[in-house]
Amino acid sequence: MTVEPLTDYSRLCVHTITTKGWEIEEAIDCYKEAGVSGITVWRQWLEGHNPDKVGDRIRSAGLKIVSLCRGGFYPAIKEAARAEAIDDNRRAIEQAAALGAPLVVLVCGADPGQSLVESRKQIISGIAANLPLAESLGIKLAIEPLHPMYANDRSAINTLASANDICDELNHPLVGITYDVYHLWWDPALEAETIRAAKANRLFAYHVCDWLTPTTDLLNDRGLMGEGCIELQRIRGLVEAAGFKGMIEVEIFSDRWWKQSTDKFLESIKHSYLNYT
Ligand code: ZN
Repeated sequence: MTVEPLTDYSRLCVHTITTKGWEIEEAIDCYKEAGVSGITVWRQWLEGHNPDKVGDRIRSAGLKIVSLCRGGFYPAIKEAARAEAIDDNRRAIEQAAALGAPLVVLVCGADPGQSLVESRKQIISGIAANLPLAESLGIKLAIEPLHPMYANDRSAINTLASANDICDELNHPLVGITYDVYHLWWDPALEAETIRAAKANRLFAYHVCDWLTPTTDLLNDRGLMGEGCIELQRIRGLVEAAGFKGMIEVEIFSDRWWKQSTDKFLESIKHSYLNYT
């Protein structure tokens, strides 16, 4: 499969967590200065801020607001904790609407004290409970399947097939998928499940980084595109052949890169984006 090279930054979006050293204002200014086109805002970056005002500032910098990251974490053994999760997701949906983000990314959660089957049921009922508000505000909810190494406590949805199954069950146009290469690259069913997701119009978001060998930390040792073993161009070819033409979001948690200067990291991201993504 051939893939069109990326020749400019018109589809480049950066997550605020990637440039962790920058507060929201600095991130907006520096992305604009660097020619980045979109921003995905992590909720921590809104703490102490009015999301309406942050949204205005992003728009006046000419950046597209791609997503709010993140909601989810629905499963819990205790009912009170499940109810609190649904409330927190309501707040996330309201924040997204105030910010002007069309979509909330869902890291769906899991509780190691119960079965994955039970956690998946609670994810479905949690999303269903949040759908009326999402509908009234026009906010999409995008389930992000996570690599199976996180099945214990971060997500009971670990493959694209499983995310597609949950979407089938919820069967709602606002419920779709965040497709992150870090979590999905290894899956032999990737091509078929990508086509399945695209046919159902549920490829809502696309996240990139790379998988390092060895990976020294389960959370914070992601690579910059081109540093690892993910076939980034092949996978972009799959999603684009299936019809996805949206933003390409750089989401890198990396203690190694976070030690460098954030300006230099963003320059490296731009280089890797054009050459290896
Ligand atoms: Zn992601």
